[in-house]
Amino acid sequence: MILILGGTAEARALAAALDAAGAPVTSSLAGRVARPRLPAGAVRIGGFGGPDALARWLAEHGVRAVVDATHPFAERISASAARACAQAGVPLLRLERPGWRARPGDHWHWVDDLDAAAASIPRLGARRVLLTTGRQGLAAFASVRDAWFLIRCVDPPAPPLPPRHELLLDRGPYTLAGEGALIDAHQIDLVVTKDSGGDHTAAKLDAARERGLPVIVVRRPPRVGAAGSVPTVATVAEAQAWALAHPPAERGV
Ligand code: NAP
Repeated sequence: MILILGGTAEARALAAALDAAGAPVTSSLAGRVARPRLPAGAVRIGGFGGPDALARWLAEHGVRAVVDATHPFAERISASAARACAQAGVPLLRLERPGWRARPGDHWHWVDDLDAAAASIPRLGARRVLLTTGRQGLAAFASVRDAWFLIRCVDPPAPPLPPRHELLLDRGPYTLAGEGALIDAHQIDLVVTKDSGGDHTAAKLDAARERGLPVIVVRRPPRVGAAGSVPTVATVAEAQAWALAHPPAERGV
């Protein structure tokens, strides 16, 4: 069986492609989202209990290969997968979508983490912020008192949150027209995002460019330790070809 560590659009696309090709595939989701979009094939939900437990899970379930297709900011599961696969002797591939690149007309401010993003908001003189960094880590913005936030995430975030905010529960993909209308309706003067990459959530960057708005972009965390040396591809097609080269033993290849 091929295990996909998922929670992304690419992971769902890979599961669909492998399932369609007749390969036994199981997708693993963390269980963070109340109503996840379920991929094709088998699905398991919830943490494994760390790298040693994941290594045991791989052996017990006869996993022949693992594709870590988790989000670029999901550091812990990638580190855990790298350690577990090395321990269990199971091949591991990282599927990671490329990051976004600024284009002419963009006013992007790159920062290393959410704390640095929060510290940049008063420096940029922003008053009305579209905050799209997800539900986790919003405590970093709780002490920003001079700005109002439109916080967009899939499920409600836990406090602490910025004192002046409105929640918008939604999930992509988003359109340029929709993002433009949202920015205009709320008189947004700054967008804050992670460098998630991909098409599903990129329309806000185009809408900000059209309006000359600044965007704070949080850099991807560096992949360190064992996770730093995992072979990586950028496309679902490459990951599919790699995974199909590791068929299960019962297929006799
Ligand atoms: P994380 O910090 O790297 O992981 C925390 C713990 O959650 C891991 O140690 C693991 O628990 C469990 N976990 C994470 N992903 C898992 C998976 N696919 N299957 C089984 N267990 C998983 O991850 P996160 O940033 O909280 O993200 C959680 C999930 O949401 C990921 O699957 C990711 O692809 C998706 N996601 C994340 C973001 C983001 O911005 N971080 C955005 C969109 C989607 P154990 O140690 O107990 O095994």
